[in-house]
Amino acid sequence: MTIPVTIPAEMTAVVLPGFGGPEVLTTGRLPVPEPQAGEVLVRVRAVSVGRTLDLATRAGRRPFANAVRLPHLLGADHVGEVVAVGAEVREVSPGERVAVFPVLSCGRCAACDQGLQERCGGLELLGVHRPGAYAQFCAVPQSAVARVPEGISDRQACALALNGAVAHRQLEVADVGAGDWLLVPAAGGALGSAVVAMAVHRGVRVIAGTRRPWKHDRLLQLGAELVLDTSDAEFAAQVVAATGGAGVYAVVDNVVDAPVWRDLGQVLATGGTVVCSGALDDARIELDLRAMYLRSQSIRTVRTARTADVEATWKEVVTGLRVPVDEARFTLTSAVEAHRRLESDDSFGRVVLTVE
Ligand SMILES: [Zn+2]
Repeated sequence: MTIPVTIPAEMTAVVLPGFGGPEVLTTGRLPVPEPQAGEVLVRVRAVSVGRTLDLATRAGRRPFANAVRLPHLLGADHVGEVVAVGAEVREVSPGERVAVFPVLSCGRCAACDQGLQERCGGLELLGVHRPGAYAQFCAVPQSAVARVPEGISDRQACALALNGAVAHRQLEVADVGAGDWLLVPAAGGALGSAVVAMAVHRGVRVIAGTRRPWKHDRLLQLGAELVLDTSDAEFAAQVVAATGGAGVYAVVDNVVDAPVWRDLGQVLATGGTVVCSGALDDARIELDLRAMYLRSQSIRTVRTARTADVEATWKEVVTGLRVPVDEARFTLTSAVEAHRRLESDDSFGRVVLTVE
């Protein structure tokens, strides 16, 4: 392929030279990657900072630090402009604004053939298994990019690039529709708040859980009807009262919030579903299975989103879907401060770095 003259030989990037605190992130100059066959080169405009993919990996912690080869570039979901394409790229052209879904499936196995990419045995993550987007340019497989509609900012699109699709899968599995009650424990996190926003956009009635009192108003502004502290002794009774005695039709839990699971038999309506998506720590919990089976309740898991969820999410964006972006603005070279903000839990919505 030929690289147009406008693409420089070198770029600014934020490098992870070794594991440690936020201060280990170092601004440096690296060669601009050349897109291989089937890849596109994206000029990065906005890149997300996430707890599991960025903070834990930077610190050398599970679940992904073992997969990283140092020195490394973090940066998973991002938004930018395609500036060059490798051989065999037909679906996307230079000049298009795209969002990059960072969970890369093999595209060749039986699960991928059926569109069940979350079951692919060869899943890789951008910014973990391959160099990420804490940089001015990033080369990614064409299958990872989706066109971003007009009318949405780079930062807002960035907040949706991964979390929008995962929230979409979770709500599909939860099978909630307009008028149904949904409980989202850990709603104050970036993914949790995206689930709340998407559910509200669809007319679902949301009870949000958080242990941070200052996030209550934010969640109410987002459209949650009620915000509860799930560690409160009265939590289950409050859910039952709010739903007229029936309990919620579904729960989408991104952290395995133990009190919710302990009281699931009460909290969940007859025939309801709890969706477990992300299990922090050991995630061994107590369950009253007798109460659950007597009320025909189900436990489902969501590992990540499918290609179909990515496509469906951008369609919902056209009809007005937006998810929260943290108000603090960071540039690529202030990645250290962005990591500190997310680590201190002062953020609400996706923490995003903008790249000049
Ligand atoms: Zn596969």
